[in-house]
Amino acid sequence: MALIVQKYGGTSVGSVERIKNVARRAIKWAGAGHQVVVVVSAMSGETNRLIALAREIQPEPDPRELDVVAATGEQVTIGLLAMALKSLGQPARSYTGFQVGVHTDSSFTKARIESIDEQRIRADLDQGMIVVVAGFQGMDAQGNITTLGRGGSDTSGVALAAALGADECQIYTDVDGVYTTDPRVVPEASKLPSITFEEMLEMASLGSKVLQIRSVEFAGKYRVRLRVLSSLTPWDIPLEQEMRSGTLITFEEDQNMERAVVSGIAFARDEAKITVVGVPDRPGIAYQILSAVGQANIEVDMIVQNQSLAGFTDFSFTVGRNDYARTLAILKNEVQAHIGAKDVLGDPKSCKVSIVGVGMRSHAGVASTMFRTLSEEGINIQMISTSEIKVSVLIDEKYLELAVRALHRAFDLDAQPGA
Ligand code: ASP
Ligand code: MG
Repeated sequence: MALIVQKYGGTSVGSVERIKNVARRAIKWAGAGHQVVVVVSAMSGETNRLIALAREIQPEPDPRELDVVAATGEQVTIGLLAMALKSLGQPARSYTGFQVGVHTDSSFTKARIESIDEQRIRADLDQGMIVVVAGFQGMDAQGNITTLGRGGSDTSGVALAAALGADECQIYTDVDGVYTTDPRVVPEASKLPSITFEEMLEMASLGSKVLQIRSVEFAGKYRVRLRVLSSLTPWDIPLEQEMRSGTLITFEEDQNMERAVVSGIAFARDEAKITVVGVPDRPGIAYQILSAVGQANIEVDMIVQNQSLAGFTDFSFTVGRNDYARTLAILKNEVQAHIGAKDVLGDPKSCKVSIVGVGMRSHAGVASTMFRTLSEEGINIQMISTSEIKVSVLIDEKYLELAVRALHRAFDLDAQPGA
């Protein structure tokens, strides 16, 4: 007997019929002798609808009250799912995040989970119930309702699995696992039967939207075994087939099979590049430039500083495209006032393409294969950044699809016909 936490996203509970199927699927697992906790999101579109309502009253909604409103979507789905379970003869009980003591800090709309009181859930499980818990929500030390940020019920699921010491956390979604890259860009993309937790973290932070990044961090920290599965398969497929249908996120040391050097290609479309030209090369300049940007709460991604020439250097970095105009304005100001650089230039039409793989640690020449592939396609690289398990390049956005397809092929990720 295992203890399993299953999380179902908004699409999976998007209609009454789908909620009934979630109930049938959960009962299938319970029927095989497992203890089952189900975490649900709000019905698809519901959280957007609630936030839009709040904005009609206050264009910049009060964060505390916004969380009061946004958290209601999940309260509807837990009740409906518990009813569906009971009407199929399965003892079940629903709980909001507050009822089962999901304690968070007080950062409304993006709160972090600090602890969970799991006794109540455990007692119900021991009585043979399926316990249904609302995702996305918690409460702070003062008893205020908080929410965990968009897509936050992934994190609720993983946090509950950690608190309960569950054997596995299964994230059901409307994709059937983690792919080598986005199949909408590369039709030959194939599903990965497993991926390491570190690779998943890179893929998630580099733009793959399968899991909320915080949930992956949480799983790594508490060593929760995670599996991404499709809720679109028929609910009554055999358990073994269902297990094989998704992607298991493993820990590197647990894996002894031979792995590909590159496991996946991630990309982020909406990047923008800023270059401060002719900066005097002296201590404190990078700090001066980036702190001006940081104070405006703008996140900086890639950073490159050139070798200085006659006491001057160029300093480039990227920001999200939404922050482009603001960053440019701040720096133009700053440059004139304090930095004494020659100019600030920008290019809002960049994108970032990354190859990811733990196999890179033990293989030489991975970056050069990437650069050769791009050069053969006539694609100019504007910036490069690397870590132990990834190489990212910034390129003109018009070459995004071409670059991802070429790299997918070059690293042997295209699915074999018939495979
Ligand atoms: N319902 C919340 C949202 O739409 C949480 C989630 O779906 O994970 O962001
Ligand atoms: Mg979601």
